[in-house]
Amino acid sequence: MSGTLYIVSTPIGNLGDITARALDTLRACDFVAAEDTRVAMRLLSHFGISKPLVSYYEHNRRERGEEVVRRILSGEDCALTTDAGTPVVSDPGGMLVAQCREAGIPVFTIPGPCALVSAFSLAGLESTRFTFEGFLSVNRKNRREHLDSLRTERRPMIFYEAPHKLLATLEDFAEVFGPERGLLVARELTKTHEESFRTTLADALARYRETPPRGEFVLVVDGAPDAPPADAADAFAAALEAAREKVAEGASVRDAARYAAEAYGVARNAVYEALRR
Ligand code: SAM
Repeated sequence: MSGTLYIVSTPIGNLGDITARALDTLRACDFVAAEDTRVAMRLLSHFGISKPLVSYYEHNRRERGEEVVRRILSGEDCALTTDAGTPVVSDPGGMLVAQCREAGIPVFTIPGPCALVSAFSLAGLESTRFTFEGFLSVNRKNRREHLDSLRTERRPMIFYEAPHKLLATLEDFAEVFGPERGLLVARELTKTHEESFRTTLADALARYRETPPRGEFVLVVDGAPDAPPADAADAFAAALEAAREKVAEGASVRDAARYAAEAYGVARNAVYEALRR
């Protein structure tokens, strides 16, 4: 009979946040597939657990996944962990879960800490809806497209960011969403220097230009206000400019018009006609 895959959430800072079920599962499993075996080793030894570990990370996930599936099919139980928080959420694991499902292996979640959920709960928002955007790409074009697709987003948007990229990200946000857009900054959650505060993009920029950001960050950016941020003429002008850039990069007039119309919430035909003039 096949074994089972357990997706085990681990603390995002404070080791006291490990759950009783996470500990039971780590004790009972046959092996742990860990994003970084040294990090997992520290966690396990803190709780007096000794288990065989295999590394499972971004660059070996396909082949290692196949090995893990073979072991589970032969009857072993596997606990999947990442360096912090919930595996699969901006972390490796999605492919392993899919491979296990394909092989008919039972998959269970052992829920626990997750930075995006903690940050959302700290934001003081009435909205029951939000979008999780993860990390912005470092690739300029992908980053731009990602941000453009969010220009008219009404739901609060949750982003992960590393400290050395935080300023560039806040600058891009201010350009796309406007400097007065509100956000929650959540830093070092559950750790000694935890802080969270509501501010605006302009004020966050001023603060971190003066004192360079340190630690781990989640940003919960307010959605667009009900009334469009700019009047219709501004939105149309911005859409047209974005469409012209796309054409200059080699896109067809039709594709450029579709892309810009969606990004800025304006009529596709109007952009198309203006491009052809
Ligand atoms: N799987 C994890 C989860 O469940 O939240 C996220 C892993 S992702 C590689 C790491 C990012 O999560 C960090 O760059 C940061 O944006 C966020 N993060 C993780 N721990 C955090 C913490 N203690 N405080 C604030 N943000 C944190």
